[in-house]
Amino acid sequence: MKYVVVTGGVVSGLGKGVTASSIGVVLKACGLRVTSIKIDPYLNTDAGTMSPFEHGEVFVLDDGGEVDLDLGNYERFLDVTLTRDNNITTGKIYQSVIERERRGDYLGKTVQVVPHITDCIQDWIERVARVPVDGLAGTADVCVIELGGTVGDIESMPFIEALRQFQFRVGRDNFCLVHVSLVPVLGVVGEQKTKPTQHSVRELRAYGLTPHLLACRSAQPLKQATKEKLSQFCDVPADHILNIHDVSNIWHVPLLLRDQKGHIAIFNKLNLSSVPPPALESWATRAARCDNLSVPVKIAMVGKYTGLSDSYLSVLKALQHASIACSRKLVPEWVAATDLEERAKIERPDEHKAAWTTLKRADGVLVPGGFGDRGIQGKILAASYARTNGIPYLGICLGMQIAVVEFARNVLGLDDANSTEFDSATPHPCVVFMPEVSKTHMGGTMRLGARKTLLQTADCITAKLYQKELFIDERHRHRYEVNPEMVEWLETAGLRFVGKDETGRRMEILELPGHPYYVGVQFHPEFKSRPGKPSAVFLGLILAASGQMDSYISGSPSRNPPPPTVVQADSVSSQAVSVSERLEKLSMSNTGVR
Ligand code: GLN
Repeated sequence: MKYVVVTGGVVSGLGKGVTASSIGVVLKACGLRVTSIKIDPYLNTDAGTMSPFEHGEVFVLDDGGEVDLDLGNYERFLDVTLTRDNNITTGKIYQSVIERERRGDYLGKTVQVVPHITDCIQDWIERVARVPVDGLAGTADVCVIELGGTVGDIESMPFIEALRQFQFRVGRDNFCLVHVSLVPVLGVVGEQKTKPTQHSVRELRAYGLTPHLLACRSAQPLKQATKEKLSQFCDVPADHILNIHDVSNIWHVPLLLRDQKGHIAIFNKLNLSSVPPPALESWATRAARCDNLSVPVKIAMVGKYTGLSDSYLSVLKALQHASIACSRKLVPEWVAATDLEERAKIERPDEHKAAWTTLKRADGVLVPGGFGDRGIQGKILAASYARTNGIPYLGICLGMQIAVVEFARNVLGLDDANSTEFDSATPHPCVVFMPEVSKTHMGGTMRLGARKTLLQTADCITAKLYQKELFIDERHRHRYEVNPEMVEWLETAGLRFVGKDETGRRMEILELPGHPYYVGVQFHPEFKSRPGKPSAVFLGLILAASGQMDSYISGSPSRNPPPPTVVQADSVSSQAVSVSERLEKLSMSNTGVR
């Protein structure tokens, strides 16, 4: 097993995760099998109990692991399925050492950071690196390990020490250290400053780690003189100094690394013979395609954390994957749910007006997942607006529950209908607490991870989009569910639950027949969306929002996509055409639409 360790210096937020994922992409494109591990030095056991406001979204894995959002980058970039153990935290390491101490594994010994914690970290890395993540048998060739935080943080010290020892444990030919740093520009002459990088490399060396490659982030490409200076002061050969300057979209990053021969430097350091040219054609095509998109599709994101793209990172990525497939330029329009509420009309009239203007000019509305009651009323108003005006709507998890509450209130006329999450005494609980969920413990106790959804009929838009007849497998993260006692009532009034769990008692997908696209899903389809393989329900939203649903469903290219219309039940016959064929046709029909 070869290890590529990625550390970060100077400041946080340099895009270390994207750099590490892109290194993985280039190595994979050279024919290697790649896995990855993210180390988060915080004390939380996992990201599940952390606020998306502070820490970005909680990413959910197939096995139910609630992990750092960087694992999402790895899954999307490398097209792998990771496990909860691929995210190491201080909490997990200490928990494991303390459990062993209680069991008596260290009987008679003083348990210490060195060697017990540092050994535990190294054993963990070696064990997890061997777990196959790409669906094939056997282990990967390379494991990319990203150390979160910035070198010098107190919390990351045991990990730095563990990695220092690890280079000797695995041998120098199997260990390559890439340090991501910042080269800022100061003053009117725009001099590229190398000192911050020099300092962070010096700090790393003081802990016994020497970077083999530098990945320097900068606004503009690094000048040759800057590279030479960095090389001289940081003791890294000039051809091992990679530059990731700002680019128009992230798909360019692996191409930048390839163009600077980063893969050759890594192959050489890892003593891997014969470097094949990286096969990155699909990345180049996607990067160029993304740059050239001009026809906008505006999606109103009605959420709690507006403008904070990290809080809804996977949702944005999934929207982007679907938009690229539909040859549309995604324009996410942030709407603070609270600004839509009646109260805001009095308290913040300007924001209220602006929020409604934004919502009304959107081509589609998305209500993402969430917890807590802030903004609930605003989300209900957004769902109501989309339902009654024929605007494509996708409700994810909470967004599906909101659609049910809205329907119960405004169609069934149950004014007090609510989720018991927001009103435990509601006389009409249409969303209720799931019986098996813990009422006392918050960490890792929700209904989590991949679960099967059985499609109840082929005669629904979701089945046509998924191109599946029996079941779909998506990831979950929730404590509440649609009240099974109210399903019949809701269905009699026109709502359809077209996807249910294996017991048939848990509602997974809702649709509203007669509406261009009104879909709610209890799961989080965003976590399994991949570039080139967009999530079916996100694709549905963008297809409907851009007037391309009919031509996609019928599988026939049309140069002038018709406006969104109700999908007729009889187009099931088109199921013989595969998703990739349809996407291909869609892209053909879009040529020249710009
Ligand atoms: N708060 C809701 C629940 O726990 C929705 C969760 C979510 O959107 N992820 O069921």
